[in-house]
Amino acid sequence: MAKNPLHCSFCGRSRDEVKILIAGQEGHICENCVEHAREIIDQELVVRDDKTASSFKLTVKKPVEIKKFLDEYVIGQDDAKKVLAVAVYNHYKRLQQKTIDSNNSNDVEIEKSNIIMVGETGTGKTLLAKSIARMLNVPFTIVDATVFTEAGYVGEDVESILTRLLQVCNYDVSAAERGIVYIDEIDKIARKGDNPSITRDVSGEGVQQGMLKLLEGTDVLVPPQGGRKHPEQKLIKINTQNILFICGGAFDGIDKIIARRVQTNTIGFNVDKEQQEVMKKNLLRYVNARDLKAFGLIPELLGRLPVVTQLDPLDALTLRAILTEPRNALVKQYKKLFELEGIQLSIDEEVLDFMVVKAMEYKLGARGLRSICEGILTDAMFELPSSRQTQFTLDMEYAKRKFDKSKLSLLKVA
Ligand code: ADP
Repeated sequence: MAKNPLHCSFCGRSRDEVKILIAGQEGHICENCVEHAREIIDQELVVRDDKTASSFKLTVKKPVEIKKFLDEYVIGQDDAKKVLAVAVYNHYKRLQQKTIDSNNSNDVEIEKSNIIMVGETGTGKTLLAKSIARMLNVPFTIVDATVFTEAGYVGEDVESILTRLLQVCNYDVSAAERGIVYIDEIDKIARKGDNPSITRDVSGEGVQQGMLKLLEGTDVLVPPQGGRKHPEQKLIKINTQNILFICGGAFDGIDKIIARRVQTNTIGFNVDKEQQEVMKKNLLRYVNARDLKAFGLIPELLGRLPVVTQLDPLDALTLRAILTEPRNALVKQYKKLFELEGIQLSIDEEVLDFMVVKAMEYKLGARGLRSICEGILTDAMFELPSSRQTQFTLDMEYAKRKFDKSKLSLLKVA
């Protein structure tokens, strides 16, 4: 029987065997071949991108400029800002040195300095990391240490930290190999108790062990979709030598460990009472690797996180500044929201002080400032868009009334 004259010029299938046949000038193509061609194009583009790796170009900002940039978003925390600025700057330097030195291999090799940030929750650790990400043109990702467990248990393999990095740069391996990873809640994988435990510690020490090889700079096989590695999966090889890791954690209770150490050190020395009081006020300032070890991080991990820095607790003055000063400060955000409705919002200074007092009183920290603002302004945001009002002044009487009515007033800690 003669073949139906209409057929796919690529696979030869006849008109009856396919759903769609698209006509060209001298032939036809079926939907299967279109699909197949699309896959070939995608694969080819990924390979080429990988070779050129052009999407992340390096421009270096000096540490002072990096800090200045951070100042726009984060109030205070000068120590942490400086440490981060230097680390990020050196990260760039090292990357540049790699390209210059590829022809000249006998120069000194600059090793990376991964960082660990210690600070109470809500003091700006993640905000610092995120602000750095805004400025960078290397791939950057934030992961939470609590989702990882030792291989063989429910949870994710630590290697999937790198999956996230690959995902943000569209699986461009050479770009990912120059990236920065922020690992949040690193304190949650601390060993329980200071002595190496007899029982297995699934989510703690095992995960720390797993992280070692990521931090030190070797080839790691990464599951492209994250989660658990499984045998049939195609894995992607990433070298972590140039990936900068920044870890952050609240390390609740570490102040007691520091106090113990500082006290032992000062016994017998002539440290006056006043000095002791100052030290007691912010013990975190004195945090070092020994304290982190006593908290439950294993020495091998600490060895790979050589830079330790801390964030100060937020006092009333800082909270007040957080309300108005950062580039996207809360007050600026609410003003913008009202402006979009054609309403000019003004907030009395004493209302801002009131919000800070409540945040301190209720121990809500900087995160609480937003809830307080919402609690006070929700009714206005509900009603005003339907009114003809073009001006709204938030005064003390209104703020107090709305605050007392809001659920927030129930949150008071004894
Ligand atoms: P954590 O230290 O727990 O990671 P975050 O960085 O997530 O805390 O801070 C929570 C929120 O509090 C941020 O989104 C930000 O609005 C505010 N905040 C905290 N600290 C500061 C700070 N130093 N400067 C400006 N805003 C801050």
